[in-house]
Amino acid sequence: MPENPILERVLFSEQQLADRVAELGRQISADYRGKLPLFVGILRGCILFYSDLMKNISVDCNMDFMCLSSYSGTSSTGQVRTMLDLRESIKGRHVIIVEDIVDTGLTLNYLLGNLQNRGAASIEICCLLDKPCNRKVDVHPKYVGFTVENEFVIGYGLDYNELYRNLPYIGVFRK
Ligand code: 5GP
Repeated sequence: MPENPILERVLFSEQQLADRVAELGRQISADYRGKLPLFVGILRGCILFYSDLMKNISVDCNMDFMCLSSYSGTSSTGQVRTMLDLRESIKGRHVIIVEDIVDTGLTLNYLLGNLQNRGAASIEICCLLDKPCNRKVDVHPKYVGFTVENEFVIGYGLDYNELYRNLPYIGVFRK
């Protein structure tokens, strides 16, 4: 793996990410057989995770996206705006929200309320990373790739001011 001066250290290598995402895909596929789940990716952080996860889903499903804006720099603003909404109704659907990381939980708390009001049959959260030590509201993702400490991480979709999303691994940002 290349030395990268913007990183304090690499947390998860490409191989570790691929292995864990494949496991999540198998688990979700087993849980949702015959339910035609709708995978809602939260742009833009989910992009690499979403794409790799979907290749490991072996049941019929639909894919859609939302774009929420809640972050600026390295600290949560707590304010959530919907920049892009779902194309179809989710009434009666089994929804799986695919998110890069759950930190304070404010973004997902807003989103859960919003989607519950639209009459989904069920809503679960699948996040690649969970930072439970930083939670401000009660949000419990059912599918979690890895739990991380209170550090600012980048790569594999996660950015710092819109940079570094393209790194194929995840590392701790050197501030
Ligand atoms: P929350 O609302 O749970 O505090 O934050 C959710 C969003 O904040 C995530 O979807 C992600 O975009 C951003 N975020 C939270 N922690 C980190 C982090 O460690 N690194 C990066 N790059 N983004 C983060």
